[in-house]
Amino acid sequence: MADIWQLLLVFTAIAIGWWLGRRGRLVSADEGALHHQYYKGLNFLINDQPDGALDAFIEALEVNSETLETHIAVGNLMRRKGEVERAIRIHQNLLARPSLPRVHLHQAHLELARDFISAGLLDRAERLLHDLIKEAPELKETAMRHLLEIYKDEKEWQQAIDVAEQLLPKRSLLKAAAPVDKTITAALSHYCCELAELSLVKNDYHSARAQLKKALSHDRNCVRASLLIADIEFRTGHYAKAIKSLRKVRDQDPVFIPETIELLRSSFEHLGDDEGFYRYMMESLDIYPSASVLLHLVDDITAKKGVVAAAGFLGQELKKRPSLRGLAKLVEFHIANSSGQSKESLGILQLLIEQLMQSKPQYQCHHCGFSGKRLHWMCPGCKQWGQVKAIRGAEGD
Ligand SMILES: [Zn+2]
Repeated sequence: MADIWQLLLVFTAIAIGWWLGRRGRLVSADEGALHHQYYKGLNFLINDQPDGALDAFIEALEVNSETLETHIAVGNLMRRKGEVERAIRIHQNLLARPSLPRVHLHQAHLELARDFISAGLLDRAERLLHDLIKEAPELKETAMRHLLEIYKDEKEWQQAIDVAEQLLPKRSLLKAAAPVDKTITAALSHYCCELAELSLVKNDYHSARAQLKKALSHDRNCVRASLLIADIEFRTGHYAKAIKSLRKVRDQDPVFIPETIELLRSSFEHLGDDEGFYRYMMESLDIYPSASVLLHLVDDITAKKGVVAAAGFLGQELKKRPSLRGLAKLVEFHIANSSGQSKESLGILQLLIEQLMQSKPQYQCHHCGFSGKRLHWMCPGCKQWGQVKAIRGAEGD
């Protein structure tokens, strides 16, 4: 049904374009042939042959500066419908007419680049976009943003950095700087993190550190950069520095505290400072209560003071802030201390809680709502950087 409406839209658009083309034509043409194509197209439409209808309409519609927008709109509609080859044909047909005003040719040029992106022909799209950046100042920014998407898809991080830096407002002593696009600075810091991770694979800590410094210069709240710096410090035996970088994460965005716990624990252990870890976690629970922090603390108390003290602490905390994960742990404690019928009933309850937890996503994108079980730095749904975070609340963290 949606297709029929889309085709009716095309039909109307082309009918208007045809009329405009006919009105704007300076040299008289064979109107009989045009009418013939027009009615042939209508006939295809009535007989439910949309492909034939579209071809006939395109053939009938003369390309000039007045009908150009109609051609472009039809091409774009084809692209959105997934008929990329046809969209490419329509837009290439426009570019084959150098007599069109340059601004119109540039628009067709951009649409063709978008067609190539949709078709996965990224090399060809890239070439067209580079040409546009050189030749069409009015479309430079749009072309650069598309180029950025291509480099992101191809994981060409250095090229992505080069383009993104050009999208930042130029610093000038003479005039106030334009507002910075936060999505660009966030993306830039993640491109640097991607390069740093590649360096880390080769154990090239020097390059990785340099990239991470750059990441933080673009976005000082880049949690990922702080986590990676902590990883390098840990690997190189600088445990106090690793802890410092992980503490920084808590200031940058406390929702990421759970991502720091394992490395924090290991770093404090290497320093022989178990008490330091416990104090830090208690502080974190106060600042930003979360099930992950609570459960690590419960493990810590179990090891130091025993199950009874740990269960008591957990029970108190769950009254303040109930969570499924906390409840599962509490039930586990009670199973260990019960027998017979009540042990069996608690076992069923534990199974239920576990099934409920397994069915829940743990992370969600704050931009598009995409949710899943693991942390993605780039959201698989909307491709935004740093927007996927742990879900909070009783069913989450
Ligand atoms: Zn998203």
